[in-house]
Amino acid sequence: TPPSGASRPRLCFLGTGYLGATYAICFAELGYEVVGFDVDEDKIHRLASGEVPFHEHGLPELLRRNLAAGRLRFTTDMAEVAEHGDVHFICVGTPQRADGMGADLSYVEAAVTSLAKQLTRKALVVGKSTVPVGTAEWVEQLVARQVDPALGVEVAWSPEFLQEGFAVEDVLRPNRIVVGVKSDWANSMLYAAHKGVFDLAATEDREVPVVVTDFATAELVKVAANAFLATKISFINAMAEVCEVAGGDVTQLARAIGYDPRIGNRFLQAGVGFGGGCLPKDIRAFQARAQELGAGEALRFLHEVDLINLRRRSRVVQVAAELLERPPGPAGPDLSGTRIAVLGATFKPNSDDVRDAPALSVAAMLDKAGAQVRVYDPQGMDNARLVQPDLGYVKTLTDAVTGADLVCVLTEWADFRHADPHALGELVSARKVIDGRNCLDPALWSQAGWTYRGMGRP
Ligand code: NAD
Repeated sequence: TPPSGASRPRLCFLGTGYLGATYAICFAELGYEVVGFDVDEDKIHRLASGEVPFHEHGLPELLRRNLAAGRLRFTTDMAEVAEHGDVHFICVGTPQRADGMGADLSYVEAAVTSLAKQLTRKALVVGKSTVPVGTAEWVEQLVARQVDPALGVEVAWSPEFLQEGFAVEDVLRPNRIVVGVKSDWANSMLYAAHKGVFDLAATEDREVPVVVTDFATAELVKVAANAFLATKISFINAMAEVCEVAGGDVTQLARAIGYDPRIGNRFLQAGVGFGGGCLPKDIRAFQARAQELGAGEALRFLHEVDLINLRRRSRVVQVAAELLERPPGPAGPDLSGTRIAVLGATFKPNSDDVRDAPALSVAAMLDKAGAQVRVYDPQGMDNARLVQPDLGYVKTLTDAVTGADLVCVLTEWADFRHADPHALGELVSARKVIDGRNCLDPALWSQAGWTYRGMGRP
């Protein structure tokens, strides 16, 4: 039920990466007056001049329109943020810690502390970053340390579920909103801060489900959702492993089990596994936090989920060695003298995000095994070069495949899915393809003379 009397608050988004920039831009589009803040001056400069620093469909147009309308500003000045915002959304990164397991909360701490130091009036600080359970309580303490209690600054948590590649749609038309709050005031501020989303839904005759809960549940919803999705992918990839030894076809198996509505067919594609800036780090951080809380056993299966996922990457190298007729060897196969085209670098199509991308990690493994690797991706080349500077990169699909002894499709970009196997066959030195995403039509490629190997398919 909408709380009464909440007017339209002014919003700030702290951290303008994939999450914060998309939110800042979309909420300006919904009519809010928005300020985006980041410590990265270059990022802020680019956003302020109308350039989205990452690839996300539909976002550049919205950015330029809302800058022009004067509803959207970007700054590196925290005083401006504190002055503007009634609601401050914390959207900074929470990467994996150097020890490989827990989440690094130093950016959350820095952002919250520097904001709190500047606050001079009542405001709501809302965490959106993905964090270990217990973080919201800690953020509340961080705020309390800096802010005069008389101001009545409050904290809430509202985890985020947007998917890169669909981010604009996911922000404007979310499938649910989850808020962890401690007071009616915080609840009504969050309602007002999302009223644009509810109004849009009403004009389209939709409803946006809202779950209002406590801090711990709100924090856990996000990591639980990611743990479930990761498990679903690793489940079907485990079935792929079994299919590989039993001679089954995991794509047909997935279709058949997916007709059961209790299982569902989405997120059930076997392939080279999940990656990106969220699922891998989130399932590791979730395990680490559960361990700290004494519930490590409950999440032990997530370790297995992670291992299944990483095994898929090695599996591509193994199949490559088979196709190139190189024996396994004690330190892995020796692929020296072979030329391999790696199609894809991003962790998924329609994004330029290469964080923990299976494609890049496989490319690096092939390179380490001695192959001459040529990587091509429609959007991810600049980021890939930053993460894996030593790999061979080429500017076009044609450059990648020309003279290749093997083609590996590792990100299911439409350009690759729709590539003509006859035309590509004219360019390669041998018609051998590994379909790491099961996104090609095996019959079509076989008819064009290719030796086709998918994941979990005979
Ligand atoms: P990102 O790395 O793209 O962006 C993080 C931004 O925070 C960077 O621009 C960085 O400069 C900025 N930052 C660092 N310290 C700061 C500080 N002290 N003050 C202000 N800004 C600071 O990361 P992202 O993908 O946007 O993810 C952010 C959070 O959202 C993470 O917790 C992530 O798990 C979560 N999340 C991301 C997605 C997604 O699809 N990307 C989806 C849901 C949740």
